[in-house]
Amino acid sequence: MSNQDLLQRDLSVLWHPCTQMKDHETLPLIPIKRGKGVYLEDFNGKQYIDAISSWWVNLFGHSHPYINQAITAQLDQLEHVMLAGFSHEPVVTLSERLVALAPDGLDRCFFADNGSCAVEVALKMSFHYWRNCGRNEKTRFVTLDNSYHGETLGALAVGNLSLYRETYGPLLLDTLVAPSPDCFYRPPGVSWEEYSRERFMEMDHLLARHADEVCAVIVEPLVQCAGYMRMYHPVYLSLLREACDRYGVHLIADEIAVGFGRTGTLFACEQAPVSPDFMCLSKGLTGGYMPLSVTLTTEQIYRAFYNDYESMTAFLHSHSYTGNPLGCSAANATLDLFQQQPVLENNVTLAATMMTAAQELNEHPHVAEVRQQGMILAVEMIKDKQRREPYPWQERRGLRVYRYALEQGVLLRPLGNVIYLMPPYVITPEEIGRVIDVAKKGIAIATRD
Ligand SMILES: *Cc1c(COP(=O)(O)O)cnc(C)c1O
Repeated sequence: MSNQDLLQRDLSVLWHPCTQMKDHETLPLIPIKRGKGVYLEDFNGKQYIDAISSWWVNLFGHSHPYINQAITAQLDQLEHVMLAGFSHEPVVTLSERLVALAPDGLDRCFFADNGSCAVEVALKMSFHYWRNCGRNEKTRFVTLDNSYHGETLGALAVGNLSLYRETYGPLLLDTLVAPSPDCFYRPPGVSWEEYSRERFMEMDHLLARHADEVCAVIVEPLVQCAGYMRMYHPVYLSLLREACDRYGVHLIADEIAVGFGRTGTLFACEQAPVSPDFMCLSKGLTGGYMPLSVTLTTEQIYRAFYNDYESMTAFLHSHSYTGNPLGCSAANATLDLFQQQPVLENNVTLAATMMTAAQELNEHPHVAEVRQQGMILAVEMIKDKQRREPYPWQERRGLRVYRYALEQGVLLRPLGNVIYLMPPYVITPEEIGRVIDVAKKGIAIATRD
């Protein structure tokens, strides 16, 4: 089979995610035959460094022998059983480990099979909790500007990126939106901490006005990943935790993208440090192997649902593949790797290597900023640096970088004008050097005219 064969078959039957399919008249799809470590390989033997971890899911590289072996062993035992009325060893072990690792107070695990559904679970549980407590007037959610929480209608409603949300606006819950603490817009001379603190004032006012009707505030701790890798200071999370307690509102931390070491700590919330009332995990949970997600919550919230059946307070939510044993075995193997190796310590060095290599881009006339949180490094291209005028989105400058990088054997998938690296943790300093080099040349080409 060749790239060309598969491509033709694909385009006659598939509809790809997050894609204007007409683009593929000129932009070739990349058929991948296999993956190993940070490399993906097509049917012609061409290799690509997966510098974005296949949409932020992969942690320890493709086809990792240890995770492969764990899934294979599980496959010989039990591929799946429903989780209502039944249980299995991988899901119990995984839950015990997550409870031990998660911020204090998160003592219950509710499983689903993708990130959006973990968010749906948190929203429904929060709403239902208040209902079970007789607080029926609490029906709304507060979100941050520029946030992203997934694509199902509930998750889309608490997101705030017009690119994904606008079309479906008439179908969505009416949310309250607070300004993002995103530090990209801080004035010169103002620190991340000062700016994030100042941005919190409006959140506080919003909560003061609406607390009675609000179930929860949902945030992506430290990095708004889909929102162009915009970043903020952990002080915002501490202020938010304190305010949520003061106003009687839940805090939902969506760590789907930032969990499992991406920002330097195992969970981004640790940097504040705060314990949310709900924490959503997916993506890296299985090391990038299987669709699995979990919503962790507190014993107190769990107890508000725990009653005689006739009380009708149970959480009657489910998905067919909830807590799938193969997914849980991949997740347990992933946690083993965190235990066996000094992953977070090694990442400190890798993160420093990324910044050192990318630093000089700060001087580039069309780079507004190079920013970083742990293993996420982002470079924002800009039309006019002095006037902070962005490139019009229609020019698709990022797409030029994408094309160039693919030619060079590097998978970068810019978000608008933002080029970023979010590599698997097994990338070497040499490979980082290569990726940044390609990114630099790509940026030079994309900003030439
Ligand atoms: C990817 C993502 C989601 C959605 O997860 P899916 O598995 O794609 O449904 C939700 N929140 C954040 C922060 C994400 O990055």
